[in-house]
Amino acid sequence: MTKCYNCLKANMVARKATIEYKQSGLPYPVMLANVPVRECPACGEQAVTIPDAEGLHRALCLHVVRANRALLGQEVRFLRKYLGWSADHLAAVMGVDPKTLSRWENGRQKLGPMAERFLRILVLQKLEEGAKEFADQVLPTLGHEPAASDESLHMAASRNGWREAA
Ligand SMILES: [Zn+2]
Repeated sequence: MTKCYNCLKANMVARKATIEYKQSGLPYPVMLANVPVRECPACGEQAVTIPDAEGLHRALCLHVVRANRALLGQEVRFLRKYLGWSADHLAAVMGVDPKTLSRWENGRQKLGPMAERFLRILVLQKLEEGAKEFADQVLPTLGHEPAASDESLHMAASRNGWREAA
């Protein structure tokens, strides 16, 4: 039992909750289920601990890479950060002008299907996650439609790590 560090009036109560992961870096709501939360019954102060944050980041990357639609600009930035590359480096790797990459990331210009596929493969390779299977089976039928405006992502922590909730 720990006293609330905010009001010092009550003990924090532990429970599992579904929270919105606002720091995800993705442009749509990312909901996390089964997250340990400690809450103060007196003032409502909340302390959230996201378990296996690295695994979550990895699962979010997989979701973006496998999305059956065109990538959004913020997703391009998200994937670049996962690769740990500067904008100039990714532009050089992809053989485009840094200004083009900047327009992609700002959503002011669409990536062509080839550029998108290349970026996805780069990330899968870093994730060590079936890049060949992806190229064999997913890429040939990958959709290039724009994302729906009401898209959201639901993740749940399980014994086997973070998974997309059904
Ligand atoms: Zn309190």
